[in-house]
Amino acid sequence: MFQWTKRQFVRLAGLAIAGRIAPRLLPGAPVDAGRKVIIVTFGGGVRYSETFSPEGLRNIPALASLRPKGFFYSNCANAGVLSHFNSSASILTGNWQRVDDFGFERPAGATIFEQFRKQRRLPSTQAWAICTNKSFSLMNHGAARDLGEPYGANLVLPKQLLIEAVDEVVKQRAAPGGVADRDAVLRQLEGVLNEGYEGIGWTIFKGSRDLDNTVRATLTRSLVEYINGPELPSSGDELTFFVTREVMREFGPRLLFVNFWDMDVAHWGSYSLYLQAVARTDRLVGMLWEEIETNPRYKGRTTLLVLPELGRDGDVNTANGFLNHRSGDASCRNMWLLALGAGVARGESDQPVRHIDVASTAAGILGFHNPEAAGKPLSRILL
Ligand SMILES: [Zn+2]
Repeated sequence: MFQWTKRQFVRLAGLAIAGRIAPRLLPGAPVDAGRKVIIVTFGGGVRYSETFSPEGLRNIPALASLRPKGFFYSNCANAGVLSHFNSSASILTGNWQRVDDFGFERPAGATIFEQFRKQRRLPSTQAWAICTNKSFSLMNHGAARDLGEPYGANLVLPKQLLIEAVDEVVKQRAAPGGVADRDAVLRQLEGVLNEGYEGIGWTIFKGSRDLDNTVRATLTRSLVEYINGPELPSSGDELTFFVTREVMREFGPRLLFVNFWDMDVAHWGSYSLYLQAVARTDRLVGMLWEEIETNPRYKGRTTLLVLPELGRDGDVNTANGFLNHRSGDASCRNMWLLALGAGVARGESDQPVRHIDVASTAAGILGFHNPEAAGKPLSRILL
């Protein structure tokens, strides 16, 4: 689906990042030693009924085929605030979060990014967050005073970079012989930029702060080539997958958080678009697993944890069914978690587990402590 030309431009950008923030990471440095963890939010809000229920399996052929190869927790609960930022921050901190719903506050306490990097003395290239949701700019570290920014993850908001790239495209086209019409270019890209509902509006952007201006300019230049190339990206999650894969190939980070979000298009009320997004996310997670299995920096040492960060309303009569995730009913809270890869037993369990257990599980795999986390390690993954 992605052409070589698309790969080329992010590759250029990736090399630029490496030159700036990781000059010591030369070939031979032991950055690939040890286990790796990739946490994927199967995201934007999806119900059991459209995924691992008997009637939902048709929407997720990739995950359905992967389930027998891993461990499936069929009863994974989100007992926290049912907003996107809080749900994802709970996964990354191990504590139920109650901060600003729209991403104007950092997660309370420490995220696993900071704990991992500080305790293991790792450079920022070893922890990344790549997020389709454009209000996740503060997700790369928490508010704990003794940790924070020096130990945060590299954060990429691919959509934000795309917006900046559009302005560059227009500047170029405004040159003699070109066409300056920002709105027209944006219309071409609206499928990528407008999924979802909460957080709409460009003011929500705070920028990918951990990417400095030079790197951002480089990424933007690269995205300009992407936009001007033979294919336009067709969804935010495809762009996120693409950037994720490039980051894996260039830096091989040991801790990676991937926020998919396309299926939140459900807020607009189209069930068919929602189902398309579910199927697309399934396909992208399947491709991510293929990358893990074929990339020598990941194969055999990586644990992939996939879970929806929240569900959607269940009862069409009281809460418009799939549109929102506000009711707090079982359809919003009762999720699943699929673990694959290194250290994972095969099987499944209906033992109750929680979203906040993910952080402690990642800590156990990667060998660091998160003493403030309320969650517990998932024993069937820590083998
Ligand atoms: Zn939503």
